[in-house]
Amino acid sequence: MSDSDVPFYRTLGLPELRVHHPTNHFDFTRQGRRILVVGPMGSGKTGFAAQIWRDSRVVRAKDTGIPGCRTADGADLRNVFFVRSRLDSRRFSEYPADALAYRGGYEQLGTSIAEISSSFELEELVAAHPEVGTWIIDEASFYDERMAYVIQRLSSSRGLVFVLPTLILNFRNAVFNTTAQLLLEVTTDVFPLTAYCEHRSCLTDSSHTYRYYLVDGEECPALYFDPLIIVGGDRQVSDGREPNYATRCSRHHVLPGKDYTYLVLKPLGEAAAQGEGDALEEELADLKLRPDRSRLGISITEAYPGTTEREVLIRNALRVPCLAERALSFLFAEQNLISEVLLRRLVRRLQLDTDFLSRRLADNRRPVDFSQEELWTS
Ligand SMILES: [Zn+2]
Repeated sequence: MSDSDVPFYRTLGLPELRVHHPTNHFDFTRQGRRILVVGPMGSGKTGFAAQIWRDSRVVRAKDTGIPGCRTADGADLRNVFFVRSRLDSRRFSEYPADALAYRGGYEQLGTSIAEISSSFELEELVAAHPEVGTWIIDEASFYDERMAYVIQRLSSSRGLVFVLPTLILNFRNAVFNTTAQLLLEVTTDVFPLTAYCEHRSCLTDSSHTYRYYLVDGEECPALYFDPLIIVGGDRQVSDGREPNYATRCSRHHVLPGKDYTYLVLKPLGEAAAQGEGDALEEELADLKLRPDRSRLGISITEAYPGTTEREVLIRNALRVPCLAERALSFLFAEQNLISEVLLRRLVRRLQLDTDFLSRRLADNRRPVDFSQEELWTS
């Protein structure tokens, strides 16, 4: 709505009407934009992309000479192409192959949809479709870091428009990864979307992603040092080893153990890297066998006596299985503090869950094969 429309609303007899920002139809006349569409799960990022597709069908029926729609080299911004990650394709296995699926429905895009796995493949795709002016790249943060600069170069040199619906924050409320950081730097426009907090008694607009586990049917929040990336997690699971996600407001989002991670766990890893590994081994043994008596458990039970619903929830974090494996994954794959030799020694001495650990390390791009452990036994 433009300012000139406001007096009309004032004529309706309700001078104190509160006029909100509307959701505008997509502007297909402004070239060279890089539009980040950010928001938590359930905030309608893909639905937003589908609306652009529907808008494009309306504007394509109009005259071809509308100023701004056509770039200097002949691409038409009204031609929209949707790109998604090949890794994501199994999520949409129950839809037609050309479907852009969102909560509540899907659009069939015919030949205007493709799957890629890298920024190099995006360059090939764009070169193969010189007539397309608007590119929607789903979950652009999930690609290699080069993606941000490929998008920047194509939009500034050719005037192409990129729409990037993506998760920007991880379950730690930090920027998801380097690609997300670089996308934030090269973007020209941001559309922040929110979702209702999923807590049963809350309707607050929310943007936090909350990771939790179900153990014996009870909600147990992930600790701060939980593996950063866990592949999968699309549907609710009650395994205890596999995470669930929800969108929560700041009041209903808990992330225990951040202070412990930096006060205790990381220094233990640093000491182990210097050859003083006994204290780390002791803490990992406690995390595995008696988490309540680990330094983590003591810090949590002291800080949260369990007198409120929130404190009980936070204490549930100690019931999540494989705490020692998670702590080791943090020190090895994320902090790069302990060597593979030390990792294997600790896994062997503490009889840790190698199936769980090898999957989490692979998720975080530090794969370790524990299947032939005897070769490493010295
Ligand atoms: Zn809430």
